[in-house]
Parts: sequence; structure tokens; C-alpha cells
Amino acid sequence: MRGLLYILTHLITYIKKYLRCLDVRLGSHLSVSQGKDQVFNFAKGLGCESVQIFIRSVRSWTSKPLEKKEIEAFISEKKKFKNDVYPTLSHNSYLINLATTDKDKLKKSYDAMTDELTKANQLKLDYVVMHPGVVPSAEKNLTIKDALSNIANQLNNLFSDFKNSPVMVLLETTAGQGTGLGSKFEHLQAIIEEVSKKEKIGICFDTSHVFAAGYNFTNKSNYDAMWNEFEDKIGMKYLHAFHLNDSESKLGSKVDRHAHIGQGEIGLKSFELLLNDKRFEKLPGILETPKSKTYEEDIMNLKTLRDLLK
Ligand SMILES: [Zn+2]
Ligand SMILES: [Zn+2]
Repeated sequence: MRGLLYILTHLITYIKKYLRCLDVRLGSHLSVSQGKDQVFNFAKGLGCESVQIFIRSVRSWTSKPLEKKEIEAFISEKKKFKNDVYPTLSHNSYLINLATTDKDKLKKSYDAMTDELTKANQLKLDYVVMHPGVVPSAEKNLTIKDALSNIANQLNNLFSDFKNSPVMVLLETTAGQGTGLGSKFEHLQAIIEEVSKKEKIGICFDTSHVFAAGYNFTNKSNYDAMWNEFEDKIGMKYLHAFHLNDSESKLGSKVDRHAHIGQGEIGLKSFELLLNDKRFEKLPGILETPKSKTYEEDIMNLKTLRDLLK
């Protein structure tokens, strides 16, 4: 009898854990070098439940338009994997800076962002992740407050250009390297406050960036305190995605260096708290950890994360 009870308890735990796994949308940033449409099959093969990709060149201002057959192939594959791999996110170009007051640079940034949103719409993506921007070194008189306002104004212009677009733009939390914006919850709060179409804007929370920016969430009490602050300043309703990375650099170092899950300064406890936090169920958690051509590191990191599910 005791034996049977033992087996039953274990079976129930196992089933519960399996069902929980289906609830968490763990994924990775994957290369589209084999063709964008191939990414869903690739993601599923690695055990991803969501995926992030680049949809245009991230290191140049311009990129050629998508071809009709490329778009059709992508949408058809996306449909095929609609129950396995979703949502789909893109990450915008690192060059884009909507904070700048330099007319030429702003035009280039705005055009590149327009291109990103055009392609995200054509491919029917769910989210475009963007780094908020920087105060350019040549624009010393530009205050952080005005820079954040500039970003919000440009986003308002973009959202009115893309009135019928269902794609949501997610501001990514940053490490605060140099004069980068987005490393304080207040920065993101200020941008969102000035965006008029609130349904089009959200947050992508990058664990390694937030940690490097100085927020500690490595035990239950500081984890709770940080999320209370997030709720007060930004609001949980704006949180739509995670970048799940451990950090090679120290707390508050402002240095953006990603490490494998559990092998950096953040450690497993924070990820355990996060993955078992009911508030974050069904949100995508994308790995941007170091990876080789075989992607075996992604398989390892996905397993590390899934092993933390209770
Ligand atoms: Zn990230
Ligand atoms: Zn990073």
C-alpha cells in the first residue's frame, strides 16, 4: 500500500511538472541563415516554445525589402507550428536611436524602425524588441528627461504611421552601459507615460541587463522588492517578454555580458523564482546566451531552466 502511494505521489508530481512545462514559453534567439521560414522547425527541434529572430540587417541602416515568396513561406511555416512555437519576436537594429536630436541620425533611425515594423507586419510577428536609445556623446546638452521624451514622441509618430498594425513594440531593459537609456525602471516609466497608444507598447525584461544595472533579485526578499518596484513604476501589465540570460558581469557593473544560466553572477535561485512565478506564466523567455553553430548550449540552458520548474 505504501509503495503504491509512493508511486502515485511521484506520478502526480511528474504530471504536474509536465503540465507546467507546457505553460512556460521558453525559447531562444536563433539564426535565420537557413532562411527565415526554417526557424520554426529549427526552434522546435531544439525544444523551444517561442523564438526571437533578426528580420533585417541589424548592423546597417538599410536592408532590402522582403520578397513575396519569402513572406509566404514564413507565414505558412509559422501556421504549421502555431501550437508549438509562439510568440515570435524580432530584435531591432543596435544602431537605431530615437532619442537623438541630430536630424540626419534621427531620420536614419526612424526609417530603420519603419523598415523593422513593416517587415514585422509582413511576417505577422507578435513583438518587436528595441533598446530604448542613448544620449549621444555629441549631444551633451540633451538631458535624460528630454531624451526619453524624444523616444516617446518618435514612437507616437511610428504608431500613427502603423495605425492598423497589431505588432507591439517592447522596450528592453538595459545594463546602462555608457549613456544608454533604459537601465532604470523610471526611464521606461517615463517613455510609456508619454506614449499615447498604450496598447502598442510593452516591456521586455532582460535578466542580465537588469542585474548589471544594479537591481538584485537573487533571493526571495530582494526579488519581491524588485517586482514591487517594477509594479509601482511601470506596471506588470506592460511586461510581455523576458530575455533569460545569466550575467558574466557583476551586480551594478553596467557591463552587458551574458552567461549560461546558472554559470554567472545571477545564479540559479533567481531563475527558479522567476520560472515558478505564476504572474509570468505564458510569457516568452528567450535565451540570448553564448552559442555555437550546433546550438548545444541552448539545449543545455533550456534543460537547466526546465529543471527549475516545480
Ligand atoms: Zn536582451
Ligand atoms: Zn545584452
